[in-house]
Amino acid sequence: MPGLRTTAVHGGRDDLAELGVHAPPIDLSTTYPIPDQATGGAALGAWADGASEADSPVYARLHNPTVARFERALAELEGTDTAVAFSSGMAAITAVVQAACVMAGKPHVVAVRPVYGGTDHLLTTGLLGTTTTYVSADEVSSAVRDDTGLVVIESPANPNLDLVDIADVVHQARGVPVMVDNTFATPVLQNPAKFGAAYVVHSATKYLGGHGDVLGGVVACAEALAKPVRQLRVLAGAVLHPLAGYLLHRGLATLPIRIQAQQATADELARRLQQHPAVAEVRYPGLTGSRLIGVQQRGPGAMIAFSTVADPHTVVSKLRLITPAVSLGSVDTLIEHPAALTHRLVDGEELRDCGVSANLLRLSVGLEDVEDLWDDLDAALNAVA
Ligand SMILES: *Cc1c(COP(=O)(O)O)cnc(C)c1O
Repeated sequence: MPGLRTTAVHGGRDDLAELGVHAPPIDLSTTYPIPDQATGGAALGAWADGASEADSPVYARLHNPTVARFERALAELEGTDTAVAFSSGMAAITAVVQAACVMAGKPHVVAVRPVYGGTDHLLTTGLLGTTTTYVSADEVSSAVRDDTGLVVIESPANPNLDLVDIADVVHQARGVPVMVDNTFATPVLQNPAKFGAAYVVHSATKYLGGHGDVLGGVVACAEALAKPVRQLRVLAGAVLHPLAGYLLHRGLATLPIRIQAQQATADELARRLQQHPAVAEVRYPGLTGSRLIGVQQRGPGAMIAFSTVADPHTVVSKLRLITPAVSLGSVDTLIEHPAALTHRLVDGEELRDCGVSANLLRLSVGLEDVEDLWDDLDAALNAVA
């Protein structure tokens, strides 16, 4: 088995030498010449049934070779049979809920809060015809019913970086498929499928792309589970554009070294933030000494959450280098206030109940010099101390 860095660089590129190219070709065709009508028809039927291969792509909503290379690489990194890419992380999560709940006739979801605000809102509104019971990680077992189609968790959770024991939740779920949103950890730090997760989803928009210039999502899972997910993509049409597929595939090559460098900086910043008088609390998996670090998650990651003693909006307004913006996982450092932005659609009391305080800020640490980032944070915090 090649190492992680080797897989990140070489994954999904096995057909390139045969094609006589070094960089993966970007296939922008929306339609493909059909060798003969019978072959074309058979291929169309196969894609519509959720097949992973057929004799012709036929049409770009059914299959795209550039996107398929990104999927193969991501599946290798996650240690799953396969992966299915979507136009955004929310499209990927929607497909999983539709496949596991709606298509399977099991409309009940159990979710451990906090989760990403968009996921929370999708489940709370019941837009897809599901109902959701929110529980803490140790209450999953008592919430699972006969009509439960899916258990939803995030670890580390967005936005407060709670770690959830995946193997324990899988055990409590008693065979109900568990979806783990692995956006924060990335396959560099955690492979949820190894602990029994049925679906591993990513907002590829974040660390996988890594440069803040591409929107995408992906579901990594076993081939049997991928089939209905691909069917949904073909028929509901939330496909990833081939240019986006190319950029996400390219992003994977540097993912391990980006995560390692960003994590080292985050670890240092978290320690310094903890000492600052204007900071009330720092939530960073490397500081809390979670038993899951080193077992489930190979490192603490590059996301930090901290709450300020004064108005967080004033702190953010004093920053000069760090960009106030939603999203995360980019080469540059971003900060946002979950209660005001990413999680504003979640009821305030429910947010506080799951450990997201009103003053919590979420910091996505980039690749800048640690001293420059600290100078910016320190000056902003001093201004309100
Ligand atoms: C951003 C995000 C999503 C949604 O992904 P999009 O690509 O914005 O649709 C889902 N889960 C987590 C943890 C996220 O951070």
